[in-house]
Amino acid sequence: MTNSDDETLAPSLEIRRCRQCENKEMTSTTRKLSGFNTESIFICPDCGHEVTLSSAGSGGVYLASAIIVTGVIAFIMWVGKGFSKTELIVLAVLFTLFSSPMLIDAIRRWRYPITGVREPSEQEKATFFSGPSDPIQKGISWMDGFGFVKGFFGLFIFIALWFLFWGTIGFVKDTFF
Ligand SMILES: [Zn+2]
Repeated sequence: MTNSDDETLAPSLEIRRCRQCENKEMTSTTRKLSGFNTESIFICPDCGHEVTLSSAGSGGVYLASAIIVTGVIAFIMWVGKGFSKTELIVLAVLFTLFSSPMLIDAIRRWRYPITGVREPSEQEKATFFSGPSDPIQKGISWMDGFGFVKGFFGLFIFIALWFLFWGTIGFVKDTFF
């Protein structure tokens, strides 16, 4: 695919409340790829207020990744010698750097509460059916479907299952072969 950049993603079907005028009918008709996330532009039909919100599903996955990355760095630093005060500060700063973009996104979404879900139009249904053809976009849209909490805990469960899987293989090998 050469035109994957302008490929349309299925728009968000969320309906949100406008911060400016309290109108409860803010909808989005465009969703675009932004880095490793998707962004939906919500427009208020009443006052025209416009806001760009990133998707919650990927946000949850990335926040979980930030915790895991910081955890691994902390473990490597801790092994053998424990932490000094400076190292703890470095870790706190690292974690803030990793996690703050996701937290800022989450706060922005919370400021526009979801009031409902709309029906997709015929044209949008076609987009949902075909979906993006690019594998990275596919993966990102797939994560979007989870929502923040499921995305967040999903990654931990995935990693736990991964370790369990390899742990079991190791155990079987050691015991029977
Ligand atoms: Zn408004």
